[in-house]
Amino acid sequence: MTTPPQRSAAEILAELDDLRAADAPTHGGRILAYVYDAGRSELDDLAAAAIARVQPVNALDPTVFESVAAMERELITFGRNIFHAAHAVGTVTSGGTESCILAVKAARDAAGLAPGTGSVVLPSTAHAAFTKAANLLGVRAIRLSVNPQTSVPTPESVAAAICDDTFLLVASAPNYPTGCIDPIEAFGRIAGERGIALHVDACLGGFALPWWGADTPAWDFRVAGVTSLSADLHKYGYTPKGASLLLHTDRDRHRAQYFSTTDWPGYPVVNPTLLGSRSAAGIASSWAITRFLGTDGFAELVAATRDASQSLIAAVDAIDGLRVVGSPTGPVFAVAADPTADVPVDPHRWAAAVAERGFTLQMQPAYTQPDGTDLPATTHLTVTPVTATVRTDLVDACRRAADAVRGQAAAKPPAALSDLAAAFADGTLAVADVLALPSEATEAALVAAGIDPHARGGPLDMAAIIAAVHTLPRPVTAKMLTEFLAAFTNP
Ligand SMILES: *Cc1c(COP(=O)(O)O)cnc(C)c1O
Repeated sequence: MTTPPQRSAAEILAELDDLRAADAPTHGGRILAYVYDAGRSELDDLAAAAIARVQPVNALDPTVFESVAAMERELITFGRNIFHAAHAVGTVTSGGTESCILAVKAARDAAGLAPGTGSVVLPSTAHAAFTKAANLLGVRAIRLSVNPQTSVPTPESVAAAICDDTFLLVASAPNYPTGCIDPIEAFGRIAGERGIALHVDACLGGFALPWWGADTPAWDFRVAGVTSLSADLHKYGYTPKGASLLLHTDRDRHRAQYFSTTDWPGYPVVNPTLLGSRSAAGIASSWAITRFLGTDGFAELVAATRDASQSLIAAVDAIDGLRVVGSPTGPVFAVAADPTADVPVDPHRWAAAVAERGFTLQMQPAYTQPDGTDLPATTHLTVTPVTATVRTDLVDACRRAADAVRGQAAAKPPAALSDLAAAFADGTLAVADVLALPSEATEAALVAAGIDPHARGGPLDMAAIIAAVHTLPRPVTAKMLTEFLAAFTNP
């Protein structure tokens, strides 16, 4: 006899629909970060159907589940073609962060370095996933300052940053904060001369740049010196979250990515990725979508995205008081206050005012680089094919928002956090003391600052929170934000 379910499937799914109603809209072009909307519902339906078919599969073992290896081979072949490396080999990972961690691990092991040794050189604008990789692998991350105007480093500064124990250089195509592409040909020459690996992080641009146009600077495997490349299928590959492609130019570098051991009484563990048992959902949905679109389908979507990006960049750059940072190539850009304007527009006040008009943009804090130069506070916009359908409304919102906040000073951190920053500055409080605070005390400090994580869904003054990130020592804000987000999932 089977026991009756506690709730019917219909009730449970209705409950889930209620929960989902609180989420930001994932479709329709209202949110210019996090989601990559092709604006074509048949892609969502195809991905869902492909995922349903592999739902019970364990991608851990391709000798048992041959479908997974067949689909992965085809995705690697697709990557070989669009990234121009006839013999590249690689792996479908769970996302950009995993691809970045594995790129560092593979380069470190291929260089014959032991865990806890070696260094990676990367521009300050390279994704934080490389800091995570360095922390997890015990590798030193050497961040080098970029030109605040162009947001890319000079080749001379790259060459100068390389140390005796450096085994890897990282370039972005493009970088997340500003959408600019590093000078990858120069990186390739330097990596070749120094005999080190070069990873191109195309997590963001990998499935857009191949069709962007002839004026795109060289960025893929055609650049001499590039040894590996990551491209997120769950960004401009329009796959549901959980898929990225990591390719290596040669087989030995790929093999160095694996963790393999037979040294226990169980089955031989041979893992190309960080996980053991592995979902095939990302592989199957990416495989289905890339086959469905083909290169013509991608080209069509990129044409719409490029059109929307370029007209949006021109429109925002023309707004009095704002400027677009550097020369972005691709579908992502950042907006800063124009210091030459008579009355500048604070980019975070602006983003908040744009949000009131129905579009969510992403605020990014100011950042002091290793050489002491400051990268300004910016607001980030990720443009997708669907942006084209809301372009007129979006440009209108951008202009009106700027008119509404022009001349307003930047937001200040919550008062309690300003007091905290003052205490660090005059030495009455040490960073180490705050880092040693237990969870409850950290939460109490947040609540005192008016940032109560238990007021879930309540209005958050993001501009004030981001201002606090720049005011307080970075490790302190990292700790506080951990407490803030962890509280969300405390039952
Ligand atoms: C998104 C992104 C990553 C990290 O990818 P996740 O999929 O979020 O883990 C790494 N590098 C760049 C340039 C990115 O845009």
